[in-house]
Amino acid sequence: MYSEAALVRKIRRRFSESGAEVGIGDDAAVVDLPDGCRAVLCSYLLVENTHFERRTHPSDSVGFKSIAVNVSDIGAMGAVPTRCLISMAVPADLEESWIDGFLDGAAEACRSFNVAIVGGDSSSSERIFVDVSMMGHVEAGRAVRRNGARAGDRIYVTGCLGGAALGSTRLESGPRTDPAIRRHLYPEPRHRLGRQFAPQATAMIDVSDGLSIDLGHIVTESGVSARIERDSVPCHPGAGIEMALHGGEDYELLVTAPDLPAEVDGVPVVRIGEIIAGESNRIVLVGDSGEAILEPRGWQHFRPDARQASA
Ligand SMILES: [Mg+2]
Repeated sequence: MYSEAALVRKIRRRFSESGAEVGIGDDAAVVDLPDGCRAVLCSYLLVENTHFERRTHPSDSVGFKSIAVNVSDIGAMGAVPTRCLISMAVPADLEESWIDGFLDGAAEACRSFNVAIVGGDSSSSERIFVDVSMMGHVEAGRAVRRNGARAGDRIYVTGCLGGAALGSTRLESGPRTDPAIRRHLYPEPRHRLGRQFAPQATAMIDVSDGLSIDLGHIVTESGVSARIERDSVPCHPGAGIEMALHGGEDYELLVTAPDLPAEVDGVPVVRIGEIIAGESNRIVLVGDSGEAILEPRGWQHFRPDARQASA
């Protein structure tokens, strides 16, 4: 049996060193904001059997990912992630080892990405819910939004795509050392690159739902269209172009800008196409056999249960 009070004590013990003016243990946290900056806020809800399964996803990966996905969203605004609130609802009969693993993963992510947990809440539930709300900061007026892409801008993606989707199909049987499986379980957000791109970027988004959907958000919000060269889309080793175009959860950055360097901090920054005028908000995919419209199709397509359902 796991009591709420025990969970709160555990989190408080574990994350007491937040550096905040008031951290865990009061009614609310009190944090500072650098002069001239604005707070940047986001949250992400992870639900057992929707986003993860206890059978296939180690608890430390759930803890790691709950922090990493929020760091990615803050980074995609060109902002610096700093502090977060973590709320959990867990079954009363959940093994303590699951909680310990979860907190190990969350702590590892906080260390890696230099963020601190300053509060949260807990409750009981039939399945596990984890909600992390992240705060960051950015200089006033400098946040990079989805709506600034202009005709003539080039379109760039960091790293490579399709790895997380490939990893999700291998989860049942593959070794935990498989890079694709690791990418699915322990995503590495590109927030530090987002910060560096911010002065040049006209629009930016992290690739969480898949290139076809996330680039769709940029063209729709910006009132433009896009051309993508199929052969230039960087595919994760073992992942085909379909996974690279539609597989989500890679947490790479998709950026539009007049010009970006080909590599930043050892990470490739790959030019995959350009923004074109056109209020139809279309994405044109250019390949060997001509042009086609790239329709949005999300990562769910690659889930083993989705494949069974459609088979
Ligand atoms: Mg996002």
